[in-house]
Amino acid sequence: MIADYNTMPHMFWECNRLYFDHQLRTPKFGLMHTYRNLGKFEYRWGEKKKPVKKRHMVILMSDYFDFDEETFRNIMVHEMIHYYLYLNDPSDCSVFSRFLRFFGFKSSDHGPEFIAIAQKLNEQYGLNITKTYDASSIPLARTQTPEKDSGSMPFSH
Ligand SMILES: [Zn+2]
Repeated sequence: MIADYNTMPHMFWECNRLYFDHQLRTPKFGLMHTYRNLGKFEYRWGEKKKPVKKRHMVILMSDYFDFDEETFRNIMVHEMIHYYLYLNDPSDCSVFSRFLRFFGFKSSDHGPEFIAIAQKLNEQYGLNITKTYDASSIPLARTQTPEKDSGSMPFSH
């Protein structure tokens, strides 16, 4: 299952219905042509005061791999948890998190809130959402020229 502008929204809608009770508004979707990140949730800093529908919110996935459906689902739900927390976590605007961000840290990417939701979904629905994914055994989407420093492990954030 290769990420594209058809497979991503369909998986999003299904997961939104099954695991998030339709609470998440459909974001924008994007593709990354890289093995370094399997998935990513992006938002624009400082938009918390804007109405949700006017904010820049994107779920991105790598089109480098041909995922099995289970892995595709787990990556999508992982990004949806980031999205959910972004919408529901007012602490994002705190001085402390700005301070961390200034120095290149993200305060709570996979913090206790993330872990709690991931564990609940894993137990309740038999998912396998983890902080990172080992992509070394996932087949590539098509013949690829490997990037040079293929030593580092791909991860999903
Ligand atoms: Zn993550």
